[in-house]
Amino acid sequence: MPAIKKRKIDSEKAAAKPKATKSRTSSESVPEKKSAPVEPVANDAQSESDESQPQNESPDGEETQPKKTFRDLGIIEELCNSCEALGYKHPTPVQVESIPLALEGRDLIGLAETGSGKTAAFALPILQDLMERQQKLFGLVLAPTRELAYQISQQFEALGSLIGVKCAVLVGGMDMTPQQIALGKNPHIIVATPGRLLDHLENTKGFSLRHLKYLVMDEADRLLDLDFGPILDKILKVLPKEGRRTYLFSATISSKVESLQRASLSNPLKVSISSSSHQTVSTLIQRYLFIPHKHKDLYLIHLLNDMIGHPVIIFTRTVNETQRIAILLRTLGFGAIPLHGQLSQSARLGALGKFRSKSRDILVATDVAARGLDIPSVSYVINYDLPPDSKTYVHRVGRTARAGKSGKAMSLVTQYDVEIWLRIENALSKKLEEEPVVKDEVMVLSDRVGEAQRVAVREMKDLHDNRGKKGSVLRGRRGAGKRGRDDMDKEEG
Ligand code: AMP
Repeated sequence: MPAIKKRKIDSEKAAAKPKATKSRTSSESVPEKKSAPVEPVANDAQSESDESQPQNESPDGEETQPKKTFRDLGIIEELCNSCEALGYKHPTPVQVESIPLALEGRDLIGLAETGSGKTAAFALPILQDLMERQQKLFGLVLAPTRELAYQISQQFEALGSLIGVKCAVLVGGMDMTPQQIALGKNPHIIVATPGRLLDHLENTKGFSLRHLKYLVMDEADRLLDLDFGPILDKILKVLPKEGRRTYLFSATISSKVESLQRASLSNPLKVSISSSSHQTVSTLIQRYLFIPHKHKDLYLIHLLNDMIGHPVIIFTRTVNETQRIAILLRTLGFGAIPLHGQLSQSARLGALGKFRSKSRDILVATDVAARGLDIPSVSYVINYDLPPDSKTYVHRVGRTARAGKSGKAMSLVTQYDVEIWLRIENALSKKLEEEPVVKDEVMVLSDRVGEAQRVAVREMKDLHDNRGKKGSVLRGRRGAGKRGRDDMDKEEG
């Protein structure tokens, strides 16, 4: 069992103990702790100035409460140092609300928007307790997708680097053997997709979670949307009930989430950062362009011309559109890379890696990239195709304006999309502004874009003719070409 470095001064614990929170009860109906509204707009430059001015300012310039620190929340020195090393100057609202309660040993339901800092909100209390108790197989985090699982594990390792935390990632689509070897090394934390975890629980000799102390279900609504419910039930049956703390994080609370909550949490407190499940962060600018369907490519290129050098995610509805747009953009000289479920797992990780390292600045993705992926520096999200529902819209646009940074989301709305757009606005409880565009400036692109469209059609035909063959980009799969939306998520775990 790898030793966790103990913290130096025991008295710190007492000093760090959070004060009991007022007016809080636990009950069947789950009391809710609403936070202050999300912090005022903080772009990079502003957050620099935060250091010399540790006060929150209201929009009219009045001083309000001083900003909390991780120390104020009860986080120990070593972990505060890790936060500092990662550039976390102050805790985010979800961290302010949930960390003290978690340190008191409560089960939590976190209703937090994407990009709110919820991973650190559950990772820090777990790591803090791990330092005390030094136990292998201490915490389990269940996530809906492989990419999210890797991301969570990376955050645990980054936050716990000073204390030497060890994580194992157990996800579908990857060889079981290296995962079994990783389990043999007695990790402290396991991050898993549910199907693969169950597979290991049933088939990996000597592996059990009998002594687990923490269970986190991240993106619980998504876990249940993907029909992981029955697998979760099986997993819950083999986890200890006594002495286990459970955190359930979800963007929305549906009746399915509520029944999972009843089955797995004991006396939980609810931490809600958004006043509505459809709230987006205040640093996000949202615009739409009402355009004819046949000119979507032209408007897309026009928008991208103004975003050169900034990381952009373009969301499309299908694998085919994702691939076609990536080719179209590359033909026009943009650094674009596709991400969808017809790519192999290593191609998907490779695509994300290139985008993260900024060797490509445009990621063209199906909705599989809308959930949970942590790509902190995205400046723009473009909805080339509108999402099927408002929940997906919130997740897509949540890829930008993360952790207090500003960002812009633009949606192409055509004559066929009016109804869904109105539904999205309705769910957001606000009318969004139209992005002003000079039509003539768009139309001058017609010839160049038309030529690139023809190249893309030819290349798409080649891709389809070669699918499944050795070295081809698209995986061969019977009936795959007939499928509409990217249903990669169904293959997860
Ligand atoms: P999450 O919502 O957990 O996916 O986090 C979104 C992003 O916010 C990640 O890149 C985190 O590293 C970052 N983050 C988390 N907590 C903080 C903080 N207190 N200050 C600044 N960035 C943070």
